[in-house]
Amino acid sequence: MSIIDTSPGMDRLDVAGAGSRIRSIEAIPLIAPFSRLYRDGDVPGWLLQPAASHRTLERKGQYSTLIRVTTEDGVVGVGECYGLPAPRVTAQIVRDIIAPLLIGEDALATDYLWSRVFSSMSGGGQVRGYFLEAISGIDVALWDIKGKVLGLPVHRLLGGPHRDRVEVYASPVPMLDEPGESADYARSFVDAGFHALKLKLGRGTRVDIAHAAAVRQAIGPEVDLYVDLNCAYTADRAVDVVRRLIDLDVTWIEEPVAVDDVAGYRRIRDAFPVTLVNGETLFTRWDFRDYLQAGAVDVVMPNLARAGGITESRKIAALCETFHVDIAPHGVGSAVGLAAALQLSASVPNFRIYEYNRLPNPLRDELATTPFEFSDGMLRVPSGPGLGIELDWSRVDEFRAE
Ligand SMILES: [Mg+2]
Repeated sequence: MSIIDTSPGMDRLDVAGAGSRIRSIEAIPLIAPFSRLYRDGDVPGWLLQPAASHRTLERKGQYSTLIRVTTEDGVVGVGECYGLPAPRVTAQIVRDIIAPLLIGEDALATDYLWSRVFSSMSGGGQVRGYFLEAISGIDVALWDIKGKVLGLPVHRLLGGPHRDRVEVYASPVPMLDEPGESADYARSFVDAGFHALKLKLGRGTRVDIAHAAAVRQAIGPEVDLYVDLNCAYTADRAVDVVRRLIDLDVTWIEEPVAVDDVAGYRRIRDAFPVTLVNGETLFTRWDFRDYLQAGAVDVVMPNLARAGGITESRKIAALCETFHVDIAPHGVGSAVGLAAALQLSASVPNFRIYEYNRLPNPLRDELATTPFEFSDGMLRVPSGPGLGIELDWSRVDEFRAE
């Protein structure tokens, strides 16, 4: 039966054709240890603890759980689950819980399958964390398959493009020791063609302001300066540091307080004329709903590899549009997560800017067979079928964590 047959009573599998049934789902945990990047194994402290959120759990490398879904016809789709800090955990959830629900199902029925998997566990309280990251990676892989079967990039399947290049900012200037080091690091981003960059803060008002002031002086008044506090402060301390940051023309305040402190966000937003941002630690549209209803944020940053994949992130974007709030997808991950974020960014009207993470990351820079095209503060949206990228599987194998 044709894929465009809409006759009443059709069977879902008939529509897809039996060849689009899911034959296998593989979860591939990846780790790229930072120690491999430094010949003497002496990884600098700023890389182990690039942000306030890594103060108690060092980040020893780049992590990801890749998903590879294959259909009966042999079409392969790839997805990514947010891997930090234990990619093998997500892989086990995929193998034990999710894959058995999906084998033999129609790979093109993305919305149906998302709901089927989510509802399998939501009644038991599994609505966030590793379980949602596992769902996310599989969903992205199914969208990659759908694009490959239909011969179109995901952004066209979603009704785009609204844009064929995506505005990005450089992230992060990590938590370096001296303000002068932060200034030099930030300046290198401007020299590379970025028009906006993000500085990691959360070390106390005095240290934070010293680094922000040095960066502002180094980059001049024309470059947008964003800061990310990674939930380091209580609201009263955040108010103090934000007041001083505004004097440095900081225009973007990200995660100043704990993720569940909606009232704290509201307090800061009411007090200051600044773009208040969160979202990388939120899962599904229901988490975002609470912030939107409270009027607590200006821009949200869903990470597709954890918030629920493309299916759910598109709904999050639509929900935000309803509240006249823009999305600015979070940017930590591999080439697969980057490609997925670019596809979504091209396909929604309320896209603001994408976080182009520049920490050393072979999983982002070395797994795709063709590089992402960056110029003048913009990334080009891949135009090939599906996510628009192909992986070098021999390179993937080099980073397997089991
Ligand atoms: Mg952040």
